[in-house]
Amino acid sequence: MAEFNAMDTAAFKGVWVFCEQREGQMQTISYQLLSEGRKLANDLGVELCGVVMGSELNEDYIKALGGYGADRVYYADSPLLKDYTTDGYAKVLCDLVMEKKPEIVLIGATNLGRDLGPRCAARLHTGLTADCTHLDVDVEKYKEFLRTTSNIDVDNTKFEENTNLKMTRPAFGGHLMATIICPRFRPQMSTVRPGVMQTQPYDEAGAAKVVVEKFTPNLTAEDIHVEILDIKKSAKKLVDLIGADVVVSVGRGISKDVEGGIKLAEELAEVLGGVVGGSRATIDSGWLSADHQVGQTGKTVHPKIYVALGISGAIQHKAGMQDSECIIAVNKNETAPIFEIADYGICGDLFKVTPMLIEAIKAAKAAK
Ligand code: FAD
Repeated sequence: MAEFNAMDTAAFKGVWVFCEQREGQMQTISYQLLSEGRKLANDLGVELCGVVMGSELNEDYIKALGGYGADRVYYADSPLLKDYTTDGYAKVLCDLVMEKKPEIVLIGATNLGRDLGPRCAARLHTGLTADCTHLDVDVEKYKEFLRTTSNIDVDNTKFEENTNLKMTRPAFGGHLMATIICPRFRPQMSTVRPGVMQTQPYDEAGAAKVVVEKFTPNLTAEDIHVEILDIKKSAKKLVDLIGADVVVSVGRGISKDVEGGIKLAEELAEVLGGVVGGSRATIDSGWLSADHQVGQTGKTVHPKIYVALGISGAIQHKAGMQDSECIIAVNKNETAPIFEIADYGICGDLFKVTPMLIEAIKAAKAAK
């Protein structure tokens, strides 16, 4: 293997996406990252590669990664990679990075990715920016992004003309957006939470021409210092906020009758064909479980309809739902910040308004 020097930035080329699979199921974050990686690879004029690890992998779904933008997929198949271990996956990914030298590596900020990414970055002596919400390599596109999302005087600001990855993420509790670069080391590594990037439509032609390269990892049982004795899955079904078309979220505004407030949200979600979410206040109070949390430290959602019942609209909450197609807010305080981003705002008591909404939707459905 050629000598690896993370500071020899000119030696690195290509955009990689770590494609996470679990029990043979490709995770949707992989498609989201490939779609985003495709844009970066186009801007750089380089290849986009997916990396898959596991045991007894199905080549058909590996080829399908081409339909989401990958030019090439490297995949390592070994019984030692059947279940995720930090040691096993980090060794294989780092070995491959050291050999092929990609300039960018994107990893999903899932439980697995949050463990794997930093371990690899430390081992490769490079930097990693966690939980990015926006990525650019092209300076003009980055300026355009700043024009639409910040109050920076872009035309009178000097920008360095280079293709360093500009990794933007919330900072200081979401009050600021920070753009971080990693100019002296390669690869530039970034994690992105599920739901933040949009998946591009599947392209048959891409799947037909993707190059799939199977490789045998240099991995032995001695490399893995933990032994998985048993995997116990949570019996509880987690709420699928990210895939939902309609999310009805509740906030601290339900505090006078928590059970009643959640029941109303469930009824409204049911008539709209959606699921229930919540602000962090409802999770911290123990009213809803953590998988319901929408926001900066919860999930990022892009539903067709987002209903906020008794949620003030703190910046950290907005960070997770402001890209929803239609936002409907019910709040008894007319100055609540949620109304600034709502398409429809109803100023009133949610315990009075929500039953009226449910009845009106039922009546509209019955009239069809
Ligand atoms: P409140 O801010 O207390 O608002 C309650 C609202 O309900 C008020 O606007 C009130 O007018 C209204 N109301 C009261 N009674 C009624 C009624 N009967 N009918 C109608 N309206 C009523 N928050 C998140 O949500 N998600 C996150 O991921 C998240 N991450 C965070 C990360 C950090 C680092 C920090 C510092 C904070 C984070 N927060 C997050 C917390 C966030 O700052 C807010 O504290 C939180 O979102 C407030 O929740 P809320 O809107 O439910 O409660």
